[in-house]
Amino acid sequence: MDQQDSGRDAPLRIDTSKPHPARMYDWFLGGKDNYPVDEELGRQLVGFAPVIPVMARMNRAFMHRATRWVAGQGVRQFLDIGTGIPTEPNLHQVAQEVTADARVVYCDNDPIVLVHAEALLRGTDEGSVDYVQADARDTASIVGQARKTLDLGRPVALSLIALLHFIGDEDGAYELVERLKEELAPGSYLIMSHLTPDFHPEEASKKVVDLYRAGGLTMDMRSRERFARFFEGLEVVEPGMVAAEEWHPELGEPVPGSEGVRSGAYVAVARKG
Ligand code: SAH
Repeated sequence: MDQQDSGRDAPLRIDTSKPHPARMYDWFLGGKDNYPVDEELGRQLVGFAPVIPVMARMNRAFMHRATRWVAGQGVRQFLDIGTGIPTEPNLHQVAQEVTADARVVYCDNDPIVLVHAEALLRGTDEGSVDYVQADARDTASIVGQARKTLDLGRPVALSLIALLHFIGDEDGAYELVERLKEELAPGSYLIMSHLTPDFHPEEASKKVVDLYRAGGLTMDMRSRERFARFFEGLEVVEPGMVAAEEWHPELGEPVPGSEGVRSGAYVAVARKG
């Protein structure tokens, strides 16, 4: 793995010469922490598929509902990898609304997220929030640093939300998830969302993948079967592996503009027995 983009001591270089997923996602969500290069690819994507910003908000809304649900199961510890640029409410705010003493560790490999991490670290007095700068594949570093805040002998909700379509099979997507699952105590949960070509015409998905790749980014939209492989050995909770908008919609407010829109993402929450 390239040392420059992993680990706590990675140089803090904001590369504005090519688009970055965190900044593009921020642009889709209407944020200000992005650069012309991100906006340019964002505009190309939205020009082709105008619903993408709504899809991004639908994904974010799933994160809120799933976090709320898992916190409601009594889980008080959260490890969120691929956090993104802060967008209120952030995961710790949702979790600490349910359980004020929830402990949260965030992780992302993009230096721009580190720059804005301060906004992620303001939680309740009772709870605790930390931020780890690391590549998702560097699971040993993530787990080592997360232990300062989390007790891995007790249940943890591990969230990998809109992360793994940026990591190809050849880059170890499945292996990293397996290594993290091994670290989880019984009673832990895996929360995941992932872009898929399954809900949209094949040509449309292919065009989106091509635009990302032309921008120098990995984009692997996985099929249902390939999504399901991430959950091997876990018990997927109701309503199963579904589109983001189908997962417990009653736990949150409807996303404005999302009526009739398919999110284009598979989601699931699963428990380690
Ligand atoms: N989870 C948030 C943000 C999703 S955007 C949400 O769903 O709202 C995807 C995030 O994954 C970006 O912030 C990007 O920087 C991060 N990311 C992409 N590849 C990564 C990697 N290899 N290691 C760590 N983070 C990564």
